[in-house]
Amino acid sequence: MTERVSARRGKAGTEGKIGNDDEIASPKARAVAKSALKPASKTAKAASTPAVDKKTVPDKKAAFEKKTIALVYDFDGTLSPKPMQEYTFLPKIGEDPKAFWTESNKIAREHGADPLITYMHLMYKKAKARGVRIDREELVALGRDVELFPGVETWFDEISQYVAMRAESHGVTLRHYLISSGLTEIIEGTSIRPRFHNVFASEYWFDAYDLPYPKRVITDTGKTQYLFRINKGVEDLGLSINDHMPEKTRPIPFSNMIYFGDGDTDVPSMAVMRKNGGYAVAVHPPGKNRTKCTDLFNAGRCDFFAPADYRRGSDLFKRTCLLLDRMLADIRVQEEMWRLSRGSGSAKS
Ligand SMILES: [Mg+2]
Repeated sequence: MTERVSARRGKAGTEGKIGNDDEIASPKARAVAKSALKPASKTAKAASTPAVDKKTVPDKKAAFEKKTIALVYDFDGTLSPKPMQEYTFLPKIGEDPKAFWTESNKIAREHGADPLITYMHLMYKKAKARGVRIDREELVALGRDVELFPGVETWFDEISQYVAMRAESHGVTLRHYLISSGLTEIIEGTSIRPRFHNVFASEYWFDAYDLPYPKRVITDTGKTQYLFRINKGVEDLGLSINDHMPEKTRPIPFSNMIYFGDGDTDVPSMAVMRKNGGYAVAVHPPGKNRTKCTDLFNAGRCDFFAPADYRRGSDLFKRTCLLLDRMLADIRVQEEMWRLSRGSGSAKS
């Protein structure tokens, strides 16, 4: 929904928890080919240095830990063709989506209000005016009718299989995350919610006030906070993300992350990803205008762009696999460097 708010006018945009990590263990793990020791250009430069304190005696049983890959998705326009509220909430309260967003953005503009808070307030204000009571359970139920782009439901297994097939190293873990300005409750009702290791999305208080009150609002720039939470492993929202954490102790380097988005609302996240050695992929509706994607690509916001077709063999699938190949090679390089730095490298001197 946030995407819609931004797309229509300007800018303005948490959580749940279901573990779904895919542990990838390949029998080829120990075979670190010398040919693979050539650092991949971009990743190598930003990849964190091996997590080793040279002043201490290495623990012989310690293992290289930076082997988690995180695929991070925007929702509206990226995994789903339209803002999630347009499938369910707005029709339920008898609102024409275009008219609703126009009105919401106009109010925000005139009052200098945050567009996301404005829409969250206006939705329930209109529902109340029409005598429609919508609680948390009902929003979750509405999530079942949210449409997804082709192949989204099979994407997670297919990508997992690809990583399993290509991983040359034991213990590579694949995670999927969602960072959305849309509503946590609606996302909870979608079929793909269990696929995400964590979901960060806007959310309501349902019992604090007469009208539900925004509990968490995830704006375009606010999304970047959650990228750092993933990077630092600080996913508990009760903990501060601002404490300094050296690169070498961050569990998921940006070079192990890909962000998927569809437009201007994703620019801050894409910029954070790429400036920190991570990757960004832009998508557009299949068969429709790709101007926004080419603009993002030409501006250096994304590594690739493709139609939002998530089926195996699609351009999006193939380009994502290319980035995964680079990531897996880089993980092997970093792991070998880590072994050497501990004086127990497998490479012959
Ligand atoms: Mg979007």
